[in-house]
Amino acid sequence: MAGIGIVGAGISGLTLALRLQQLGVETTLYCESDAESVRKGRLPNTVGRSGHTAARERELGSEHFRDPGSLLGYATLSIAGDPPVEFTGSFGEPFHVADFRLLLPAFMDDFAVRGGEIVVTGTAPDAAQVERWSRGHELMVVASGRRSLTELFPRDPGRSPYDRPQRLVTAALCRGFASETLFRYNISGGAGEIFRAPIVTREGVVSAVLVEAVPGGPLEPIYRTPWDELPAALLPAFREHAPRLAELVEPAEFEMLGPDDLLQGAITPMVRRPVAQLPDGKIALAIGDAWITNDPITGQGANLGSRCAWIAAEAIAAGGPYDAAFGRTTAERMWEAGAPVTDWTNAFLRPPAVHVMSLLMTAGTRQDVADLVVSLFSDPAHAWGLLSSPEEVARIIDDEERRAYDRV
Ligand SMILES: Cc1cc2nc3c(=O)[nH]c(=O)nc-3n(C[C@H](O)[C@H](O)[C@H](O)COP(=O)(O)OP(=O)(O)OC[C@H]3O[C@@H](n4cnc5c(N)ncnc54)[C@H](O)[C@@H]3O)c2cc1C
Repeated sequence: MAGIGIVGAGISGLTLALRLQQLGVETTLYCESDAESVRKGRLPNTVGRSGHTAARERELGSEHFRDPGSLLGYATLSIAGDPPVEFTGSFGEPFHVADFRLLLPAFMDDFAVRGGEIVVTGTAPDAAQVERWSRGHELMVVASGRRSLTELFPRDPGRSPYDRPQRLVTAALCRGFASETLFRYNISGGAGEIFRAPIVTREGVVSAVLVEAVPGGPLEPIYRTPWDELPAALLPAFREHAPRLAELVEPAEFEMLGPDDLLQGAITPMVRRPVAQLPDGKIALAIGDAWITNDPITGQGANLGSRCAWIAAEAIAAGGPYDAAFGRTTAERMWEAGAPVTDWTNAFLRPPAVHVMSLLMTAGTRQDVADLVVSLFSDPAHAWGLLSSPEEVARIIDDEERRAYDRV
């Protein structure tokens, strides 16, 4: 065994493994579960992958499950209030929503069929095991998600403004919505956010519902509701906090797929220190949620994991030594991608700033601003560059006003 050891077969670890394989770098992938167990497991998330992530998968020759019903070209954003604000805009390149219990095993199969070495551990190995594996590799990359091996990568307080969950998350797969290929994003101030998207699953295209409840707010009980009582709890929540979504539901047909098609949890947003010094003098590099765990509110974690895997693969393929300086430089390059996503997502967990609200209200009356706002979800660097700047937002709104004036 030599080359690179990767711990974790989520989208981050698998993208890295497939890219290194493509670049001719010897790689071993350590997984907690085999592909079949992932297929039969519980719903891990309801990820929408951007056009950029899809382009990387295309370059890897690993495009899967692109059922047209799960490709979303547009999103409708509805903000409850008096008056309510609503607009529909284009993502540019479509988002693709696939059940990760389909997608990740397909990536694992691709890696294995192309000669990749997969070691299935059956349990989640600890830091001591990573240190033992490290002896057989030039570099260990840890992509084990937000829950494990955290002792290797302590929290970075300077980049982590929260010390507790800002939302209580319920993700569920359901039937009973009118069919449409739109992403629905509903914001209800003080209560939270409710999303609905079509998702391709082993049972075909169904609906993914994500409720992001503000702790202590009126949506919090959803997070404690058992799966078989969820439809009855969701309907009144939709009517009150996402009325346009409620209009799409056929109450008699509204049901959960099954008990495993539900995820309830609370995520503390956190950035960790990405480089661990191991006792044998080598380093371990964290990527994906093992490094940056953001709240799903902006739908960016998997997209960032894929992007950072790509950056790390390019750096690794350029050659060693894979020492502390390599770790620092690679982490800095990844942070250029990670910082805007993190800052934007953390800002979204707070009530919108006045200039952001003005932009959203303008989007409610101007299609080009609506398209601009929705396209920001595909381009987090642009999103944060714009949304963090009252001057930039004013320039866009003023420009619109001036153009409208010129047309008169
Ligand atoms: C409800 C919900 C909705 C979301 N929506 C979006 C979205 O729309 N868009 C988006 O981009 N992101 C979204 N996210 C975030 C996204 O799911 C994560 O950011 C992304 O999946 C993280 O991928 P990862 O590979 O870094 O980690 P993980 O997916 O956590 O994968 C880690 C893997 O490592 C394995 N593992 C753990 N410990 C060990 C160990 N010690 N040894 C070996 N293996 C180990 C685990 O079993 C797992 O397979 C959402 C998340 C949630 C919860």
